[in-house]
Amino acid sequence: AAVESAPAVVVGSGYGGAVAALRLGQAGIRTLVLEMGRLWNTTGPDGKVFCSTLSPDRRSMWFRTRTEAPLATFLWLDVVNKDISPYPGVLDRVHFDAMSVYVGRGVGGGSLVNGGMAVTPRPDYFAEQFPAVDVNEMYGTYFPRARAMLGVNSVDPDWFESTEWYRFTRTSRKAAANAGLKTAFVPNVYDFGYMEKEAAGTATRSALAGEVIYGNNHGKRSLDKTYLAAALGTGNVTVHSQEKVTGVTRAADGTYVLTTDLVDDTGAVTGTRQYGCTYLFLAGGSLGTSELLVRARDTGALPGLGSEVGAGWGTNGNTMLARANHVWDTVGANQATMPVMGIDDWANADNPVFAEIAPLPMGFEHWVSLYLAITKNPERARFTYDTAAGTVRLGWTAAQSAVSVGMARKLFDRINAANATIYRYDLFGSPSKVFADDFTYHPLGGCVLGRATDDYGRVKGCSRLYVTDGSLVPGNIGVNPFVTITALAERTMDRVLAEDTAP
Ligand code: FAD
Repeated sequence: AAVESAPAVVVGSGYGGAVAALRLGQAGIRTLVLEMGRLWNTTGPDGKVFCSTLSPDRRSMWFRTRTEAPLATFLWLDVVNKDISPYPGVLDRVHFDAMSVYVGRGVGGGSLVNGGMAVTPRPDYFAEQFPAVDVNEMYGTYFPRARAMLGVNSVDPDWFESTEWYRFTRTSRKAAANAGLKTAFVPNVYDFGYMEKEAAGTATRSALAGEVIYGNNHGKRSLDKTYLAAALGTGNVTVHSQEKVTGVTRAADGTYVLTTDLVDDTGAVTGTRQYGCTYLFLAGGSLGTSELLVRARDTGALPGLGSEVGAGWGTNGNTMLARANHVWDTVGANQATMPVMGIDDWANADNPVFAEIAPLPMGFEHWVSLYLAITKNPERARFTYDTAAGTVRLGWTAAQSAVSVGMARKLFDRINAANATIYRYDLFGSPSKVFADDFTYHPLGGCVLGRATDDYGRVKGCSRLYVTDGSLVPGNIGVNPFVTITALAERTMDRVLAEDTAP
């Protein structure tokens, strides 16, 4: 395999990778971005790039023969998941022993599949999680910069109160209020002006057509439309898709050498390549970056890496659950897929929880209120290298998930008691399962800022190696994480471009 070289290589094109690519490109540094997923810019036989949640096809999931949606069943019936043919689809569910992790695959990473909720964390909790970071600088400079670049906007409150598409949210808000709980609007990167046009019938429907976890064909300002478009616009950035980085090592002159697999639409490896670079930015997400670093340390490829690499991983306390409403409390057959409100009980020191009011668009009235609870679960786990299998394992246990469930249960028991309602038992596979405690949307940690790296994301023990993604966040941030990941990446790039790359 021939060695090509570039001054800078970025592994992964999610939030951390997109910020790194743009700021490197603007600084005039020729940069190569390597992404294992597809470039999602061509339409299928239906004229669309992405498929909808209600009729998934091969585009939905990463090399599967059947979809693995978060809600396994409805009325215990296996009606949600569908057989598909293997393909580099946009959503992956990575299975570890006691936890599975949903991640986006493609140029844009998680931005292609997520709910777009763009939440800035509470300053006090941010300071608790990142004691070495200047909070004033974050909230004065980097959070505003991240929100502006990501195209964050908010639903018009008047439209929200009147539209059928958010009846499900208003019903959940009422149930929370009956329990004396606070709710708050949450901004999003979905263009709400576009959504109002969808509702009026003057624009092609996306969020109002069940599109979200398998991609949005319209309306969503995913990274390919924001940071990555700007990065390509600098003329200094190249993106290679369907190319997976399998190993990182260092040449005698200190440059990094990456090995990649070229993966075709059937999943076959059609070739391997090698790249050399001076500056290496790891942004494969919490799983991707942790895997590369743990493997590099334990195989001796990067012997400088220390024991903090792979540590400090958490689920952001994620627990999904649903309540059954009374027949008169309808949620509506029509539901927008972009969440716009959360139940905010984080200030409750006994049981801090922030619960997103999630949509369940099935095209008929089902009286279900669905929630994704983010709990202040203090449990953390570690990635380890399994030498025999050549794979990375995650030490998270079912008992650690039970901590999140206990916290979510406390909050929702209150809501059920105040409304004389019950949980739904039919949504998560087995007969009496109320809490989906076996998956997370928010993998965080594995290369924590200030522990495995210095206070700016420079990996300890390896000069000119940087981490810019969710692996920097120590397992929990109390809200949906991509605004935090983006802002921290902006902060890292400011510092690195000022101090490390000067000629
Ligand atoms: P990612 O966005 O995961 O990007 C990593 C990229 O690197 C991926 O494209 C991956 O394919 C690629 N990669 C990994 N390893 C390699 C390798 N070895 N070689 C080449 N490429 C590699 N967050 C919010 O803030 N709000 C929400 O509403 C929200 N909703 C969500 C809904 C779903 C269904 C999911 C799955 C997530 C959601 N999230 C949400 C979480 C959010 O998307 C993630 O926190 C975010 O994408 C993480 O950013 P990142 O830069 O760390 O990595």
